[in-house]
Amino acid sequence: MADRRGARLAALVDAFTNDVDGMLVSSLPNIRYLTGFSGSNALLFLSRGERHLITDFRYDTQVRSEIGDLAAIRIERVSLWDGLWAILPTVQGLNVLGFEEAHVSHRDFQRLLESGSRWQWRPQPHLVEDLRESKDADEVLLIRQAADVAVRALARTVPDIRAGLTELQVAGILEHALRDEGSEGFPFPTIVASGPRAALPHARTSSRVLQAGDLVLLDFGAEYQGYCSDITRTFVIGAASAEQREAYDVVREANAAARSGIRTGMTGQDADALARRYIERHGYGEAFGHGLGHGIGLEVHEAPRLARTATGRLPVGAVVTIEPGIYRPEWGGIRIEDDVHLSADGPELLTDYPRELIEVP
Ligand code: ZN
Ligand code: ZN
Repeated sequence: MADRRGARLAALVDAFTNDVDGMLVSSLPNIRYLTGFSGSNALLFLSRGERHLITDFRYDTQVRSEIGDLAAIRIERVSLWDGLWAILPTVQGLNVLGFEEAHVSHRDFQRLLESGSRWQWRPQPHLVEDLRESKDADEVLLIRQAADVAVRALARTVPDIRAGLTELQVAGILEHALRDEGSEGFPFPTIVASGPRAALPHARTSSRVLQAGDLVLLDFGAEYQGYCSDITRTFVIGAASAEQREAYDVVREANAAARSGIRTGMTGQDADALARRYIERHGYGEAFGHGLGHGIGLEVHEAPRLARTATGRLPVGAVVTIEPGIYRPEWGGIRIEDDVHLSADGPELLTDYPRELIEVP
């Protein structure tokens, strides 16, 4: 794998130097993207000439092996901010400094104004997130591996789904299979939603018992070397009713239309419309209340967004979910979610699992 970290750090410095003399990066996924450090407590400071990574004593060994000499390492025993206030006065030419407005708590913002009052602090919105939006080939490969883990785990789980199990038990079977197939963690709590609960697009898995006639929605992901996948499939316990089958076919066709029609250069709005128009034409428009999808990568929800209000254009290299759904209170819900890489040559499917309606015997 090519080491892209130096190029990413240089691209970030290029992005901010017209505006500010240095920048504080406090988002952990952004720090991981830029340096490879995967610990849970860190600050990164960059200027045109210097790179400093501050973490605590728990990560002393890990930070050295993960980042090597990419940045100067400082280990703090009490607060990372003590390290920052020690480093900044030693760096020449700093007047105006940037910070990540979405990743500084109010308490930490107070620190910038008080302990950091000798510098002027200026918010730098989503600079690293913009860089992360286009994945390089190695990142796409890691997401593909995370998708493969999820697909294999699902294939192992489906034969075990049956009436009489609770949603939590099904989630347990699936999560065991995910771990066994190599998932490092769960990018978000696994959703198993059955019967009327499937009508809740972000349901919490409960102790409800699966019963004949239920729609059962499984929405989950795997993590591979820090990169996430995110997939949803919906099943029926027993034989599907005509109504369930009709709605299912609409979601499946909407998913297919968006997967084949999505292109780089489109806005998130245009992509959303690929599925939404199909669902609306079939009379279910009101029942598709969320956006079509979102970027995935080091985080399970990142840029770009695919939604009615998303005006940003989809860059080459983005990896996005396509997840149309139909939800009706009391009746249940259906969602089919896939992960797609937007290459210069067109969309490339990463979640290769069938979309035919499965009736669990
Ligand atoms: Zn999902
Ligand atoms: Zn999703």
